[in-house]
Amino acid sequence: MSHDASRPLHPDTQVIHAGQHPEPVTGAVMPPIFTSSTYAQRSPGEHTGFEYSRSHNPTRYALERMVAKLEGSTIDEKDDPSCGGFAFASGLAAMDCVCQLLSAGDHVVCMDDVYGGSNRQLQRVKARSQGLNNTFVDMTDPARFAAAMTPKTALVWVETPTNPTLKLIDLAAIAKIAKAKNANCLLACDNTFATPLNQRPLDHGFDIAHHSGTKYLSGHSDAVNGLLVTGDLELARKIRFHQNAIGAVLGPFDSYLVLRGIKTLALRMARHGESALKIAQWLEQHQGVERVVYPGLPSHPQHALAKKQMAPSYGAGLRPAGPGNFGGMITFYIEGGLDEARRFLESVQLFTLAESLGGVESLIEHPAIMTHASVPPDMRRDLGISDTLIRLSVGIEHVDDLIADLERGFKAAHGGMTTASASPARVRGNAANPPSLSNIRPAHQTSTPAIPPILSL
Ligand code: PLP
Repeated sequence: MSHDASRPLHPDTQVIHAGQHPEPVTGAVMPPIFTSSTYAQRSPGEHTGFEYSRSHNPTRYALERMVAKLEGSTIDEKDDPSCGGFAFASGLAAMDCVCQLLSAGDHVVCMDDVYGGSNRQLQRVKARSQGLNNTFVDMTDPARFAAAMTPKTALVWVETPTNPTLKLIDLAAIAKIAKAKNANCLLACDNTFATPLNQRPLDHGFDIAHHSGTKYLSGHSDAVNGLLVTGDLELARKIRFHQNAIGAVLGPFDSYLVLRGIKTLALRMARHGESALKIAQWLEQHQGVERVVYPGLPSHPQHALAKKQMAPSYGAGLRPAGPGNFGGMITFYIEGGLDEARRFLESVQLFTLAESLGGVESLIEHPAIMTHASVPPDMRRDLGISDTLIRLSVGIEHVDDLIADLERGFKAAHGGMTTASASPARVRGNAANPPSLSNIRPAHQTSTPAIPPILSL
């Protein structure tokens, strides 16, 4: 895409054009799906820049450049063919590539509340296979992070908002502390929940933005994929080497699908955020709810940080369109216990009971039994991933239909308890007097759900 660089483009425009140019032979506006695994050479070692598709694929490059530009990488295509963006077979494969940049025995500091599979990769795989020495710490408190970080810490891994309890990490504060202790330490932020339209980790001093692109980037629950972005050319070269050397690259068909999904990312995120805010406000007034956690609510203990950090500028103050800047994920604790949670989850109809998130369709799940079953039970207990915790991924259906569906769930869970009450069942804090972070955790806890076999390997 060539345009007048002195006039930055709105993010809504970037999701269509960033890093894209018509295909040189035919002028095709969307990049063709280049399926060829290999490319003809004129003479041994003399090729067009494309040798073998694990190393170079034009369809994958188009996706990688798009995400790199959205995340704010300034690497030029002349210096790196994908501008510092890298696509992998899954979000966990992308995380694996970051870990492979480390050496055996290195120290990692990880946010204690992360996706269960990320926790599992560090604790059950990397600790054994690479001897990585992991410290999990609650980084919502920068002082605790400072105490966990050592001059030998080689990687800091965070998610914000966290999965599933939607805590926020102050990225700029963490970056400042980390780089002061060890300037060479890599800082990686899993930006899956926020997306680059709502938050850009590189702008806050992080080295790598990570995505499970399976979620909002693809947006249609039809392509498992992961992405890394860096704005540092030297680091980009290292990641490129490892992406090729390890080989868990994204195939051309899926690259095409994800790129196609991103074209509507701005429209989708505006709708996800707008509907999620309405639903969170409705839940907060509902008698069947013990507590709602949503960064866009004044009652969220870090609402002020959410307003500051989840508001990226794309240059000259350009911001994504629409009011929804806090994403489509809501967590709430239902009144009662596991039985009420089960009845609720079994009776909603528009919200599909399924793992994953970020698609156009609304999803609902029970983290303790589903996505976070691989987190050790005592850690789940400490994090507040209890039997009554329910996670919503709010889709782009009409919000009134979604609210009616949730009401159906409450009726099934609690019998007579019906519509939103004029006076909420609990005082949950307000802008002037937000509850503390520990209030995110409900008082009662939790039986230990059985771990499904695939996760207990
Ligand atoms: N990060 C987050 C926040 C996730 O929710 C997930 C999956 O649910 C992952 C990473 C892993 O991504 P993938 O399933 O694409 O490997």
